[in-house]
Amino acid sequence: MAGRIVVIGSNMIDLVTYARRMPERGETLEAERFQSGFGGKGANQAVAAALLGSEVAMIGRVGDDDFATGTLANFARHGIDATHVVRVPGVASGVAPILVEPGGENRILIAPGANAHLLPKDLLPARGLVEGAALAIFQLEIRTETVLAGLEMARKAGVATLLNPAPAPDAPLPEGMLGLVDHLVLNQSELAILSGLAPDAEIDVIDSANGLLARGVGRVVVTLGARGARLVGPEGVAVIAPVPVTALDTTGAGDAFIGAFAHFLVSGSPLETALAAASRYAALSVTRPGTQSSYADRASFARFSA
Ligand code: ATP
Repeated sequence: MAGRIVVIGSNMIDLVTYARRMPERGETLEAERFQSGFGGKGANQAVAAALLGSEVAMIGRVGDDDFATGTLANFARHGIDATHVVRVPGVASGVAPILVEPGGENRILIAPGANAHLLPKDLLPARGLVEGAALAIFQLEIRTETVLAGLEMARKAGVATLLNPAPAPDAPLPEGMLGLVDHLVLNQSELAILSGLAPDAEIDVIDSANGLLARGVGRVVVTLGARGARLVGPEGVAVIAPVPVTALDTTGAGDAFIGAFAHFLVSGSPLETALAAASRYAALSVTRPGTQSSYADRASFARFSA
């Protein structure tokens, strides 16, 4: 039987405004259209895994507002156990106001709100969820000390861990954090930053990933957009081929990849098979608009894979 996935992470409401151009300072401009959507890297990854049929539990915080009601309903709709997604009184839910110009160029602000209120001590009441999981997943949209405490809790219980170090940290990660990570899944700019370089630095992906293995990570998966992904582990390097598609909207492709990878991993697929399926699932997501709305369920993924 497939094991349970626990996601200790963020949820946000994406507030996307499409405009003819960005307003200047002090200017008010009428926008063309507005759309809100469920987001946050933690929630996105949880939803992708749940849509594929995994049993998923989420640990997180929502605010004291209508956004929270929507987020909790969204988890329920996907069959995600949100018993430990708790409302924080007097605090706003996490939101991401996003401005998009016609060419797709965007500007994003993230107001973490309640997400920043998940403290290390808050993991104790949810200990059973972590310890009974087959895989614990983390990102960096919640407090780093909470991520560290969660990784320690999972490692102590012998639960496999996956860290997606996104958004890339602006300070070095705490000493020892990488040593608690079995699967580090990141994109090229996050790899550059974790290697101590600028996000757009020219890097040798394999050398840089090997540098992270030397810092204690079990395995590194580098996602490369339309170029697929690379698995770098103690057994060597594997190329995870991209699945050629016509991309419409690549937002949330990384989260689709991780949610699917997690699903196939806990379902018992060998590592490279799980990564190939993740690449296929993420490719399908870029052919559809939106973030969570672009994630396929089990049936439509099966049709795409047939
Ligand atoms: P985002 O921040 O938009 O979620 P990311 O930078 O974290 O994305 P990417 O490396 O861009 O992640 O994409 C993740 C995976 O999605 C890739 O490894 C690949 O498997 C798939 N993917 C992304 N873009 C494409 C594309 N244009 N065609 C096919 N597959 C794609």
